[in-house]
Formats: sequence, C-alpha cells, structure tokens
Amino acid sequence: MKILVTGATGFIGKSLVPKLQNAGHEVEALSKKDYDLLEQSQCRRLFKEHSPDAVFHLAAKVGGILANKTYPADFIYNNLAMNTYFLEEARKAGVKRLIYTFCGCAYSSSAPNPIKEEELFKGIPDANAMFYSLAKATNHLQVVAYRRQYALDWVSLIPGNAYGPWDNFSDKNSHVIAGQLRRFHFAQENNEKSITVWGSGSPVRDFIYVEDVADSLLVALEKHHQEAPINVSSGIGVSIKDLTDLVQQTVGYEGEVIWDKTKPDGHPVKIFDVTRMKSELGFTPKVTLKEGLEKTYSWFKKNIKDVRL
Ligand code: GDP
Repeated sequence: MKILVTGATGFIGKSLVPKLQNAGHEVEALSKKDYDLLEQSQCRRLFKEHSPDAVFHLAAKVGGILANKTYPADFIYNNLAMNTYFLEEARKAGVKRLIYTFCGCAYSSSAPNPIKEEELFKGIPDANAMFYSLAKATNHLQVVAYRRQYALDWVSLIPGNAYGPWDNFSDKNSHVIAGQLRRFHFAQENNEKSITVWGSGSPVRDFIYVEDVADSLLVALEKHHQEAPINVSSGIGVSIKDLTDLVQQTVGYEGEVIWDKTKPDGHPVKIFDVTRMKSELGFTPKVTLKEGLEKTYSWFKKNIKDVRL
C-alpha cells in the first residue's frame, strides 16, 4: 500500500516507518518541515501532492506531566487546530483509511482499573494534563464523526505509557522513563551523591516499548475496523518507585534517590484492560519492561548526540 505517516520523525513514527517499509509498503514519511499542519492551506497542499491508500496520523503536540502543567494553551491549541484542518482535508481528499493514536491520559482519573475502552468520556482526566488529554480525546471524536458521517474506515488506538528510542529525553518535556534515564545517566557520569526524582513514587503506570506500539499499528492496519478505540499496552501495573529502582539498576547508579514531592504525581493508577487488543487484534507486546529499559539505555548512550536533551 501507499502509506502516509504524519509525525514520521517523532517518537512512534521513527519506529513505525522502517517497519512499514520492511513489510513492503511505499511510505511517505512526513514531518513538520514538509507541511505545517496548523495551516489548513498546507494540509490541502499535502493531499494535492500525496494520494495515500492509508494514513497513520501521529503528528501531535506531546509532552510529560510538567510540560502539560506549564504550557496548557500550547497543548490544546496545537492538537485541536492541527486535527481540525488535517482531518477535514483528508476527508475532502477521499482518504478512506486512517489510523489515529491518542492516549491513556484521556481516561478519567477515577476510572476503575484495569481501564476498559468503554470508560472513555465517563469523567474528567487528571487535572495536570487535562488540556492535552481532552484535546486528544476530542481528536478521537473527530475521527469518529468523520467515520459516521462519511462512512470512512477511520479508527483509533490508545497506546499505554510508551517509551524507547527516539523518545524526548529533555528535562522539561520528557515522560518518566526518558526523564529518569537521562538524569540517572548524568548523575552517574558526574559522580553525584544524590539524585532527585519527581513525585511520591506511589503512582502506578502501564508501560509499553515503542517497537511494540509500532508493531501493534501494523496489525491494526490489517485488523482494526471498529469505531471503538482499542487499548494497546502491557496490561501490567508498575509503581513509579519500582520503575525508579529498575532505571537505577539499568544505569548502575549507586547514589541516593530523593523524591521531590512538590512535583505532580498525576493520575494515581493507570493500568489498561487489554482484552480487546488480544482478542480483536490478536496482539501481545513482546518486550518486557526490564529488556525495554536496557534497550532504551543502550540506544541513549549510542545516540547521545542525536537525542532530544
Ligand atoms: P503520565 O502521568 O502518565 O502522563 O506520564 P509521565 O511519564 O509524565 O509521569 C508518570 C509518573 O512518573 C508521574 O507520577 C510523575 O510524577 C512520575 N515521575 C517521576 N520522575 C519523573 C520524571 O523524571 N519525569 C516525568 N515526566 N515524570 C516523572
């Protein structure tokens, strides 16, 4: 198939594009430097210049819990505007197949665990990332609306907390694994006696290695044709305290770990129900958290010059 990927140089895109190429697809890998999706005229030009059989729409304004707290307007504006223009132009161009990814943070912070897809829109997401979460959930609604009104095979997936190569490792924008790997690495290199990590350590998250997310997207291209989004994750809950111990072991840092409780904890427990992932997609992630951390850390050391720090 001729497949267009937006956000192709982003975190998930970097893993997805080579997998699509290896599977024999012709891939048009687009990033911000090709088209600014915040301009409707550029979305229109994009579909004049490309006529894909399918689109993976990964472009988004993303960031960790602190970035979300600091830049709520950027998160809501970029995600709502970009999708409004992009999806409308995709519809006008007759794109029949589109796969969109959003996030587990769209679920209410009081959703019962493990969180089933039907919990979506049954409450307000955690306040720290509410603007991003609701923008992405609204983007999913946009996908649903086009699907219903124009009978398009547009679908959505909800990956869990993804991590791995090409993640954002910067201090301000990173999610927990990339942020901690980076800080432990430099604390180790600089022989620092202690390291500060965020929050209380008590929140629980469900992590998925980015290569597994990319594999699930390939499977979804073939098998996911339902309006209801599907969770894609490990289905295993790990406390931030246990994760931090694992990161510390992976890096081999021996100093003291201090918890900065002034930093937000966010959603208390977020574990995904992956029943539909298994039954409808026939998919199970392959990489354990321990292996994934090792792979991510070796990638980080090898690519330190290209890493987003
Ligand atoms: P989210 O809360 O699921 O959107 O994802 P994050 O990865 O941003 O945060 C997950 C949890 O890890 C939160 O409870 C954070 O307080 C905690 N955490 C601990 N250290 C860090 C860190 O260095 N960066 C981030 N982003 N979160 C951290």
